[in-house]
Amino acid sequence: MKDVRLDFPLLRTHQDLIYLDSAATSLKPQIVLDAMNRYYTDYGANIHRGLYAISEEASSEYEETRQVVADFINAPSSQEIIFTRNATESVNLITYALGREMVDPGDQIVTTVIEHHANFVPWQQLAFQHDAEFKVIDCLENGDLDIYDETGRIDLSGIITTKTRFCALTLVSNVLGTVQPVKEIIKAIRAINPKTLILVDAAQAVPHMPVDVQDLDCDFLALSSHKMCGPTGVGVLWGRNEILAHMPPFLFGGAMIREVRIEETTYDESPHRFEAGTPDIAGVIGLKAAVRYLQGVGMQTLYKHEQELGATLLKQLQEAFGTKIRILGADSRLPRIGLAAFELEGCHPHDVAALLDEENIAVRAGNHCAMPLHARLKANATTRASLYLYTTHDDITKLVTALHKVHTRLCPSIKK
Ligand code: PMP
Repeated sequence: MKDVRLDFPLLRTHQDLIYLDSAATSLKPQIVLDAMNRYYTDYGANIHRGLYAISEEASSEYEETRQVVADFINAPSSQEIIFTRNATESVNLITYALGREMVDPGDQIVTTVIEHHANFVPWQQLAFQHDAEFKVIDCLENGDLDIYDETGRIDLSGIITTKTRFCALTLVSNVLGTVQPVKEIIKAIRAINPKTLILVDAAQAVPHMPVDVQDLDCDFLALSSHKMCGPTGVGVLWGRNEILAHMPPFLFGGAMIREVRIEETTYDESPHRFEAGTPDIAGVIGLKAAVRYLQGVGMQTLYKHEQELGATLLKQLQEAFGTKIRILGADSRLPRIGLAAFELEGCHPHDVAALLDEENIAVRAGNHCAMPLHARLKANATTRASLYLYTTHDDITKLVTALHKVHTRLCPSIKK
């Protein structure tokens, strides 16, 4: 894993930088930048409409990404891969295109309190606009969802009903770092209401661990390229073909139509029906390079590396600060990715982040687009360190040493 650092040019241009903000966006390997640059320098034409060589090359490079992404998440068909701008747009595509058609007054939309706003607000607004009930699954003090009976089994009776149209779940929380038992939750939902449509937010999962949409048995899955070594500006929505085939369009315009007449417009098949206008061609081609890069590393290897680093991060923070630190989700028994969002006694997270920056350490402070979760766990804001394949044990040690300095500076009177 150490050698992968050489693949990331930003780590060369900022040799002293300790980048611990990969949950916000990951660094990009050179081959992703090269793939995008090659598009612009060698064959930068628009796709699908050109009957000349470089346009055909651009179309085929763009379309090839669908298959590469499909294989990466084990989607049965590349036709089920829709390119969007980001995970947020992928969720909104469903709430706009399908939600508006399907949700009636009195129906229920279910999500959880641990969601990122991207998988919370679109559903909340859909529910409000259609007089549907917006049900939010609570969590326990350790951040685990409050879905277990006394024997530890998942029990969704009282949550999922015959009126539940949609359920939106995150696979990995961007604050807790825990991997949710989404496969088991989906099984429990299907046992109560097989017609509930289930969207999995995998924005923090796909970059860090193997994800298999068929194994999860979800209906939709959202991800963002920029969190998985790919460029910004590209997201993916995966959906089951049988649903996408009947789903109305989201955005209207060029590239998504079959025939346009003054009286009427007919639409193209999925996935093109959902990709109106010129897409981020270079970005999609960059995503393909990113997926191939991650496949080269091996997702199982990467996940193992992160679990190990994540455990070290938690252990070192807890050993260094004891009761003076509160790491959200640290008491969970669920598997985790390499991420820790924490409160340090007496220190405002923004001050912590600003002082860590003086030590060349990049972390994030705030509520990480998860206000309901912070409110639920009674944390105003947290400082978040998030790791990825290029993070080393040395980075973690340096973070903990720098945090000591920060703590002493901000709270000289608190005894360690
Ligand atoms: N879901 C989760 C769990 C996230 O962490 C993020 C990004 N922080 C998103 C969704 C949204 O991703 P994007 O901003 O790329 O749409």
